[in-house]
Amino acid sequence: MIYFDYTANTPASNNALNAFVTAEKTYIGNPNSNHQAGLCARECIEKSTEQIASLLSIQSDEIIYTSGATEANNLAIKGLAEANVHTGKHIISTALEHTSVSASLSYLQERGWEIDLCPIDRNGMIDLEELEDLLRKDTALVSISSVDSELGIRQPVEKVRDLVRQYPECRLHIDATQAVGKIPVDFSIGDTISFTAHKFYGLNGIGALIKKKGIALTPQISGGKSTTIYRSGTPTTGLIASLSASLEEALSNESERYQKVQSLNQILRDELKKIPGIEINSPINAIPHILNIGIHGISGPRMQKLIDEKGISVSVKSACSSDALPSRAVMALTRNKKRAHESFRISLSHLTKDDEIKALIQAIQEITEEREMI
Ligand code: PMP
Repeated sequence: MIYFDYTANTPASNNALNAFVTAEKTYIGNPNSNHQAGLCARECIEKSTEQIASLLSIQSDEIIYTSGATEANNLAIKGLAEANVHTGKHIISTALEHTSVSASLSYLQERGWEIDLCPIDRNGMIDLEELEDLLRKDTALVSISSVDSELGIRQPVEKVRDLVRQYPECRLHIDATQAVGKIPVDFSIGDTISFTAHKFYGLNGIGALIKKKGIALTPQISGGKSTTIYRSGTPTTGLIASLSASLEEALSNESERYQKVQSLNQILRDELKKIPGIEINSPINAIPHILNIGIHGISGPRMQKLIDEKGISVSVKSACSSDALPSRAVMALTRNKKRAHESFRISLSHLTKDDEIKALIQAIQEITEEREMI
């Protein structure tokens, strides 16, 4: 099996796995308990939290552990909107967001919030003039991803922050899930920032919402103690230790890994351009880890199936959205329904081998030729 779906999930690194196993074997107590076993587990969590804070240049008490980015986005969007309702019920986002953001926004819309999606330009970047026009006194929240999961477009988050800051009551949430571990992320931008370990060779089931001090957030889960008042439930010592280990590993190798992926992406783009009928959807400012393409006359889901039959995994949209509908992100970028239907996503890693790239190109070439013979 050849894997080209690192945007959906990455294999857990040995460091992440070892940190989990060691912590789970060593610390048997519930970290909420006040006996020796509990205190030892809590100490392990506190140490890991300090390390994460230092890696991200934030304070330890700004970290809220969650089960992943879906939960972190739900908590941020619903929690900020509810806590900031006195400002107003207007929220701005984009068409590029993950379903955990768009569905949280729909949830709020059904409960009386007004949602505006800010248009994006030809390169997929949020249109800053449009954003400026959309911002109002009653805008309670702006929610954007620093890198989206379908096309990999990097957003000008600093410029967005500058505009949002003109409205001191408005909160800014950044979904940095596809950025952390791939490109530098400035955690001072944004009132809340979400990410998840399984996108940077950590384990599934652990993510975080970083919340600036002084920002009001309404918890979405009731009962039970945890590391913060914002998300209850017994914290998992092993997962927190492993988050710290995977983050450390990803950040210390970030630029080297980026260079490798960049060169693989260039080879792939150059070779794909030679195949007739290929559209490359990811703009040139996209992160090199994500390459969204389409082939004339073959739908994305069909293409995924045909490539899968050749033993290669690629993805249609994000793993968490329905395949039947055309991609909302590709539609917003290209304004072309056919291209949105035909799109699929190849995602790369520093682990990707040259011969895997060759096999993928050959598979796409064969499928394209077979289609022409029909
Ligand atoms: N946001 C983005 C941009 C994502 O790519 C993903 C994962 N596909 C999520 C949020 C949700 O992350 P998780 O799988 O940890 O819930």
